[in-house]
Amino acid sequence: MAPLLITGGAGFIGSHTVLVLLEAGHELVVLDNFANSSPLALDRVLELAPAGADQRLHVIDGDVRCAEDLDRAFAAAAAPITGVVHFAGRKAVRESVEQPLLYWDVNLGGTRSLADAMARHGCELVVFSSTATVYGEPEVFPLVETMPTPPVHPYAQTKLAAEQLLAAMVRSRGWRVAALRYFNPVGAHPSGRIGEDPDGIPNNLFPYITQVAAGRLERLRVFGDDYPTADGTGERDYLHVMDLAEAHAVALDYLLQRAEATQITLNLGTGRARSVLEVVQAFERATGIPIPYDVLPRRAGDVPKLEASVQAAAQLLGWQASRSLEQMCSDGWAWQRANPNGYR
Ligand code: NAD
Ligand code: UDP
Repeated sequence: MAPLLITGGAGFIGSHTVLVLLEAGHELVVLDNFANSSPLALDRVLELAPAGADQRLHVIDGDVRCAEDLDRAFAAAAAPITGVVHFAGRKAVRESVEQPLLYWDVNLGGTRSLADAMARHGCELVVFSSTATVYGEPEVFPLVETMPTPPVHPYAQTKLAAEQLLAAMVRSRGWRVAALRYFNPVGAHPSGRIGEDPDGIPNNLFPYITQVAAGRLERLRVFGDDYPTADGTGERDYLHVMDLAEAHAVALDYLLQRAEATQITLNLGTGRARSVLEVVQAFERATGIPIPYDVLPRRAGDVPKLEASVQAAAQLLGWQASRSLEQMCSDGWAWQRANPNGYR
């Protein structure tokens, strides 16, 4: 199988996807500057991967914005790279409001440099990490890919701009591009060896809950119970990170099998939104650990609800998420329990 480049492959979603792609037999070059990850994640991936997989994994410590680093990555495998999965980027909404230049630089500038390097190296196929936040503050559900995308913060704006840059390469150069709009990936590989490793106090619901369960944080803060949702708390479409990782393998296969210019934009979720309180209850059921919580006012910038239409991914790729909310909880907990300080 021809080699693939995985930017940001040491990160949360990247590490799980690297494992799935090694299991599928691919040769991979990971380019990561470890701005938000640890090289240890890739050592753990190799422990879980089939024997000999270390011969098929090349790791380049480099920046996706840097042409020289990209040239090193494109030269790292024995054969030419035929496709890219582009995870490298920054993903914190609040940070993007505070540091917009950083987000335009890394998320859009990084995609531009990557596209430039792809053109230099004759590689015309890319799977791109986009986000459900491109839909802005939607009111109609489920969200279909053709619905309007009025992003409301720099994070979503830079992701939408990168989608548009890649779409322009499809039109002008006949590239094959999949923009995957992730909803809320959570959980971990069931081994508990790889998982999400947030720096400091987590912003996101799932790692916050697992840290409360571990006794590292005292009580969950539920941000708002006056939303127009069934129980008043915010609703999101959570999906297991292993389902998400597998979707990348399927999207790559889909693009690799096509000869003509191709552009697909797909939501990746389960198609079912869950409230904060539903997640708390599922976690308690799955682990037997009570999660004490207080209800606080709404968090600035939060939307009431996100829920994917998952029909397009099912029809085009034959992919649908298969793991339950309880599995997301028990696998996320297995990772947190075995690695109280993440990779540190
Ligand atoms: P992550 O931070 O764990 O992974 C991103 C990886 O990219 C990290 O390993 C980081 O070190 C690397 N990186 C950052 N800047 C880089 C640069 N300039 N050069 C090279 N490497 C760089 O995040 P994740 O949760 O795995 O997300 C992966 C992608 O999916 C991101 O683009 C993110 O925006 C997108 N996404 C994530 C979520 C989510 O909830 N986790 C949702 C939607 C979209
Ligand atoms: N949330 C919460 N307490 C937290 C973190 C998040 O109540 O400590 C809520 C948040 O208001 C939202 C949902 O959980 O309704 C998911 O938030 P998260 O930050 O995980 O994802 P995102 O907002 O990026 O979709």
